[in-house]
Amino acid sequence: MDYQLDIRTLLITLILGNVFMVLLIAAYRYRSPRDTASSLFIVSKWLQSACWLLVMIRGCLPGPQAILLSNVLMLGGGGLEVVALLMISGAFGVKARRYYAVITALSILSYGLIYFFYHSETLLIASTSLWAVFFIAFPAYRFIANQGGSLLQTVMGVIYAAAAFIMLARAFAAFFSGRDMNIFSPGLVQQIYYITIFLVMILGMAGFVLLSRERSYETLRRMADVDELTGILNRRAFIDRAQLAAAAASERSEPISFLLLDIDHFKQVNDNYGHVTGDWALQNFASTVEFYLGPRDLFGRYGGEEFALLLPGADEEESSRKAEQLRVAIMSSRIEGHPLQYTVSIGVITLVPTKSAQLDQLYKLSDAALYEAKQGGRNRVVRSRWPE
Ligand code: GH3
Ligand code: MG
Ligand code: MG
Repeated sequence: MDYQLDIRTLLITLILGNVFMVLLIAAYRYRSPRDTASSLFIVSKWLQSACWLLVMIRGCLPGPQAILLSNVLMLGGGGLEVVALLMISGAFGVKARRYYAVITALSILSYGLIYFFYHSETLLIASTSLWAVFFIAFPAYRFIANQGGSLLQTVMGVIYAAAAFIMLARAFAAFFSGRDMNIFSPGLVQQIYYITIFLVMILGMAGFVLLSRERSYETLRRMADVDELTGILNRRAFIDRAQLAAAAASERSEPISFLLLDIDHFKQVNDNYGHVTGDWALQNFASTVEFYLGPRDLFGRYGGEEFALLLPGADEEESSRKAEQLRVAIMSSRIEGHPLQYTVSIGVITLVPTKSAQLDQLYKLSDAALYEAKQGGRNRVVRSRWPE
């Protein structure tokens, strides 16, 4: 099949495509908070527009410098775009920073060498393609290998991996073709390369929007479900999940235990040490309990210094053991560099598989047990029985 892609037409779409993306994101940012990732994304789009413009008008500018500049712009623009996408997905950590610092330094070095010693456009194309592989390989790897990452990230990773593979093919084609190559050279690899660039441009934009959305949604969901002070579930989220867990347990005919935990004399903690220390104590309490939790256990802040714990699958014996373990752990826990000590009272109820119950029943019964624990002198565990 003799199919010749019109590269100049493609260049126009690349230039305009990148400029339109800048316009869209700039318009969006006009009323939304500006973050580093979207600033970088805009800069990357400007660099790429400039790169393709330069390629298109070549001939009007001094040859070698313009060619070098367009290659640098392309790599710089593409690199910044990838970094912006990594930032949005929270994957631009220390390792990534080091990786990109090294790749950037090496690519600049290679450009310098080629420019001063070889004057070869073929070599420039080969090295730009090769460095592009390194720039793209990182997000490809991160997005695919990211455990607990979204399906969106995995799909993006796979597409980036494919793009990296095509860049690699182009680098090889340039190195080993044996003839001079420039940006308009014909050939299958060249055509696939341009289509790849075009598709990666679309992937970048769609990925940027979707990843931002995914991130905002995660943030909102966290804000809606998590107690700000302690980082555990808030009351509403706890009740939602506990209700599902209780229903699932009754379907599976397994026992379930509900613990209500209330810190003893907490008002005195605030009175004696101040509200800030009181807050520390609440954080310390939550992290101490979390340390003892199993993967299915649900733990939430019911309000103030009252917490709830749902243990799916735990019978009377196991829940009593867990409650006692927690009571002792709290009694002996310390806030670093602070004399504060405190205790907790716990009301427990276990639901046997034959019964079914609403969460508010579990709450009422464990609250009655908790009241008894307080009456009995605090720092103790009291069990409630299911009414016959
Ligand atoms: P008891 O042993 O009977 O449970 O006594 P208590 O003092 O713990 O009981 P009470 O429920 O009367 O007091 C709870 C106190 O918890 C009152 C409130 O000021 C404090 N508190 C509630 N939420 C917070 C919070 O987020 N931070 C701090 N520092 N204190 C809080
Ligand atoms: Mg209390
Ligand atoms: Mg209380």
